[in-house]
Amino acid sequence: MTPANRQRLVQRFVELRALENEIGALRDMILAARRRFASSMRKAMSCPACGSATILEAQFVLDRGDADSPKPLALQKPSVWRQATVGNFAALVCQDCGFVEWSVPDREGVTEGADIRRLDASSLDGAPTPYR
Ligand SMILES: [Zn+2]
Repeated sequence: MTPANRQRLVQRFVELRALENEIGALRDMILAARRRFASSMRKAMSCPACGSATILEAQFVLDRGDADSPKPLALQKPSVWRQATVGNFAALVCQDCGFVEWSVPDREGVTEGADIRRLDASSLDGAPTPYR
């Protein structure tokens, strides 16, 4: 191997190392972005707003009932005669930035009706929302 060829080989090796480092940095960025934009905080176990992994779970979210008594915040109250509610809310909260993700873990008894409608892709066509 000539000294010129050896010099070119060393240069290519240096370039290869630089490219490997860039690929590693890009891989880390992609993994971080996937964690941030995962479909839920529960799946990602990190906050989509700040990336923190310190997530708190509130299994019930309190609302105020009659005479200011605490009751679970829920989607529906099946009967005006009973105090029971269905579709109680739970929340995941980022301890570092306060980002909140709501969920309804138990949907048994939650039904379509006057206050709840089923959506599909055509339901949103042309519907004005602040997100369009
Ligand atoms: Zn956060």
